[in-house]
Amino acid sequence: MRDPFGRTITYLRLSVTDRCDFRCTYCMAEDMTFLPKAEVLSLEELDRLASAFIAKGVRKLRLTGGEPLVRRNILSLIDSLSRHLASGALDELTLTTNGSQLQRHADHLARAGIRRINVSLDTRDPQKFTALTRWGRLVQVLDGIKAAREAGLSVKINAVALKGPAGNEDEIEDLIRWVHSLGMDITLIETMPLGETGSDRALDYLPLTIVRARLEQHLTLEDIPLRTGGPARYVRVAETGGRIGFITPMTHNFCESCNRVRVTCTGRLFMCLGQNDQADLRAPLRADASGALLSAAIDEAINRKPKGHDFVIERGRIAPAVRRHMSETGG
Ligand code: SAM
Ligand code: SF4
Repeated sequence: MRDPFGRTITYLRLSVTDRCDFRCTYCMAEDMTFLPKAEVLSLEELDRLASAFIAKGVRKLRLTGGEPLVRRNILSLIDSLSRHLASGALDELTLTTNGSQLQRHADHLARAGIRRINVSLDTRDPQKFTALTRWGRLVQVLDGIKAAREAGLSVKINAVALKGPAGNEDEIEDLIRWVHSLGMDITLIETMPLGETGSDRALDYLPLTIVRARLEQHLTLEDIPLRTGGPARYVRVAETGGRIGFITPMTHNFCESCNRVRVTCTGRLFMCLGQNDQADLRAPLRADASGALLSAAIDEAINRKPKGHDFVIERGRIAPAVRRHMSETGG
């Protein structure tokens, strides 16, 4: 799949549910209305959809959400998709999780051929963790990370940089040192204006340029050329030997190397996280068991993948640039 700007699409991020057992303040409102179950693709349909993309050249598949591990019977989908790893059609099957269910599922994930996962963790302060996630408990996530590592999974931590006393700005360096002391990497993310959360994002938004400058007062950050086709720029920390990725949608444009598309749990294909254009894949998926209509719909959509996003965060602007929540498109 090649888009109009010559970018080859090899990475699919598939949201398997819009539901979650947390309500992170920057991601969701507290009283979220979730999709009626009938609108959500069945596990079988998710499998057909993912397999159609794999047949078209997707080499990396990430399951996300909402919280992917709260979807009922998600392990059966993962087991089924792992056939593409066995056949060599897929290089990597992975997921992004809040870690709450990892203790139960880590062994199974490893057995299914998952090698690496991303776990989101913004703070190691138990009170702050519960305040930020509204419903989460830190110990559950830490136990989950431990279980994943013991199962042999390589864990990367994702942390959203958040300003102010309610945020994590005063502990980012500690978080990095802790992550690196366990041999894990960490990616820092700027908040993106996605979906109504009931708060003013300008209050949370902490540019990573500032975070980086502060880190450099105590740590030596060496740029490394590692590129994953994604938005992250990586550095190695001389003092710890670990890596930090910086995802800076707000301060940098990373779109020229974009290799990915996203599909929601209702089968809507978003060619860009930061744009509203989408293509419905559920109707062609359901209308035609042969997959021909689905294949044509994917081709048509890739042909209009936009050049880039246009996020803006302005003080006092509560309405998001993109109305859907991150939990809908999948982070
Ligand atoms: N529930 C899983 C988790 O939290 O890892 C997977 C889905 S979550 C939407 C994926 C990632 O998006 C998480 O790392 C989360 O911190 C991040 N995220 C959510 N809302 C965001 C926002 N508005 N701006 C930037 N990152 C966001
Ligand atoms: Fe749930 Fe992940 Fe969104 Fe937090 S960031 S509310 S864990 S989907």
